[in-house]
Amino acid sequence: MPCELCNAFENEKDRVIYSDAHVFVVPILHPIKDGHVMIIPIRHAENMKDLSADKSRAFMTAANLAMDAVKKTYGQTPMLLVNGWEYRSEPHLHAHVLPSNTNLRGLYAASEGVVGRNKASVEELTAMADKIRVHFSYES
Ligand SMILES: [Zn+2]
Repeated sequence: MPCELCNAFENEKDRVIYSDAHVFVVPILHPIKDGHVMIIPIRHAENMKDLSADKSRAFMTAANLAMDAVKKTYGQTPMLLVNGWEYRSEPHLHAHVLPSNTNLRGLYAASEGVVGRNKASVEELTAMADKIRVHFSYES
């Protein structure tokens, strides 16, 4: 059974801002603010790693076009965001573009209740890199 976003391209044709053979850009049904749009693969994919090279290129091209258009339309700096798996409302891969008056560091720090800028030592950064490197593959 297709998910809601599998049907979105057909169901929301009147609102599609941009499309190519692989992806489309559309205003989200429940926008956080004016200018909130999504980049959605036309065919179901759950993660960016599920996209072929052509589809990945199309996804990022659409994201760049959406960011440029949102900046020109709203005069604010666009943010490109992809939810982690367990926080998505839909299993279908999608990215959000939002006009913003803050940067990612400010947004994330406020959302997570952490200090926006920490000076880390070389040893701390190396330990962080070592920790992440262990899991740096498409295998889960
Ligand atoms: Zn889907």
